[in-house]
Amino acid sequence: SQPWAAPEEEPIVRIEKLTKKFDDTYAVDEISLDIHRGEFFSLLGASGCGKTTLLRMLAGFETPTSGRIIIDGQDMTNVPPYKRPVNMMFQSYALFPHMNIAQNIAYGLKQEAISSTERRERVAEMMALVQIEKLATRKPHQLSGGQRQRVALARALAKQPKILLLDEPLGALDKKLRERTQFELVNLQERLGITFIIVTHDQEEAMTMSSRIALLHDGRVEQVDNPRRMYEFPATRYAANFIGSVNLFNGHVVEHENDMVVIHSEEAGGDLRVHHSQPLSIGMAVTVAVRPEKVAVTSEYENAPNNIRGIIQEIAYLGDVSIYHVDLPSGKRIQFTQPNVMALAEQPLTWGQEVSLKWHTHSCGVLTQ
Ligand code: ATP
Repeated sequence: SQPWAAPEEEPIVRIEKLTKKFDDTYAVDEISLDIHRGEFFSLLGASGCGKTTLLRMLAGFETPTSGRIIIDGQDMTNVPPYKRPVNMMFQSYALFPHMNIAQNIAYGLKQEAISSTERRERVAEMMALVQIEKLATRKPHQLSGGQRQRVALARALAKQPKILLLDEPLGALDKKLRERTQFELVNLQERLGITFIIVTHDQEEAMTMSSRIALLHDGRVEQVDNPRRMYEFPATRYAANFIGSVNLFNGHVVEHENDMVVIHSEEAGGDLRVHHSQPLSIGMAVTVAVRPEKVAVTSEYENAPNNIRGIIQEIAYLGDVSIYHVDLPSGKRIQFTQPNVMALAEQPLTWGQEVSLKWHTHSCGVLTQ
């Protein structure tokens, strides 16, 4: 991921209180969002959260029920798709089966007022860009999924849009190819400097590629942040759960002094301490969030902050790491991960073993919603 434009610069896309209602469903519910020039921006969320509807409204394929879309300073809310400085790459790729690859890429340029020489040049340039020159005379059915994806990308880029919208662009690829293509896509976006807005339901994909992510939930924005902040500082319980794994302890605030909050949690079997600067009132119901990899195993119980004991109930060996599921005396089950550093060494932690766990007051967060 790359740095994004300074916030004071005029955003390339401004979405203002955008709403789309289908019958009695709010697919998109008063979303406001700024996307900056040169960003690789992801709309992330579970199935049905409204991400495709939002993307289609940006493209002009869907008319908003209310709200506004400003692109590059101009109100585009009611402007037809072909008059927007935007192009869309579809999940299905939507290639024409009877046309060869070069013709498929040239197709989008037919309506443009450019000479046939320039058109040919542009097509050659696009094929070189995504490295499919050798495939120019093949038909789509003679290509692999990855090659078709490149053709669709070349076709979408040929019109030189200011903004490229991509709907699950890697959805049809297998895992290995998907991972490789993620980097290629970021690389391409950085070279071209075009703003990419991508829809994905895959949090890892969004984390890998994006400068920023908008996490959507039930037609609303749950959180907008860069990948690192999204993971380290989730704003809500939903965001904490959606991105990665998390241990959540319900409790209430008993003390808050000098950026240190003390939260009493029956689930944790006592008090937890968290660094937190926003004001919290005593007695307030809150949740403490701790990522599994921030939990360390200590040799003995220290009665220090955030030190708890439990019994290992399950171990999942994943190769690079193992995930340990631990039952606490309260009955709550939590998990922690450990890197598997030593190959074939005896498993240092075993099923049924009592372990003492702790985490740093800076390695956890307080969630109020
Ligand atoms: P997915 O990942 O499954 O594609 P999504 O996040 O892209 O989901 P949308 O396709 O935007 O979600 O749909 C959001 C909501 O709007 C869903 O409840 C969906 O059923 C509804 N919806 C979408 N399009 C229509 C339509 N044309 N008519 C009626 N309801 C629709």
